[in-house]
Amino acid sequence: MIDKNTQQLINKGEMLPLMEEFYTIQGEGFHTGKAAYFIRIGGCDVGCHWCDVKESWNADLHPPTSSNSIVNNVKNIANTVVVTGGEPSMWNLEYITKSLQNLQIKTHVETSGAYKLTGLWDWICLSPKKTKLPLEAVYLKANELKMIIFNKNDFKFAEEQAAKVSENCELFLQPEWSNKEKMTPLIVDYVMKNPKWKISLQTHKYLNIP
Ligand code: SF4
Repeated sequence: MIDKNTQQLINKGEMLPLMEEFYTIQGEGFHTGKAAYFIRIGGCDVGCHWCDVKESWNADLHPPTSSNSIVNNVKNIANTVVVTGGEPSMWNLEYITKSLQNLQIKTHVETSGAYKLTGLWDWICLSPKKTKLPLEAVYLKANELKMIIFNKNDFKFAEEQAAKVSENCELFLQPEWSNKEKMTPLIVDYVMKNPKWKISLQTHKYLNIP
């Protein structure tokens, strides 16, 4: 049970239910290959059946952690932070992103867009899910659209979502990891026929890094 004071700090974004934080290489999407400090925040009710971080879903399992202490851990280590989850937009991200940007640290987010996105962002990666579609306002803010391809129907969903983002948004198709042997050849074929898309692979999993 969270006490009143902690709840107030969470509401203000001065505390966040931190699941894990680690410095690694961004493995997927537009910034693949770049060093980045990952901040994984607990809590998600989007319910993707193939989710590879189901242990993030219950926010109560992840201790409210001071945003200042997270920022202190990043400082002097990394010049880019990726805020991910879980679904990070369930939380107030104004405070932590402002603190990071004040230190000239770039702020990236990975979100399904299911909730209002707060915070100051240098890069927004939107990854819509059928089970809980993005809010309209998030589409036009996205710098990158990353569609996970689990089966053939997902190409149609990807096109529907691509029709909603801005003209400058980078478009990626990424095979869902457990089905990658089957879907990757289809994605290769699809991208050659539809070159507005690029392939994103989860290179961190091939490299065996977090
Ligand atoms: Fe998992 Fe992300 Fe889907 Fe949430 S939105 S269930 S964290 S894949």
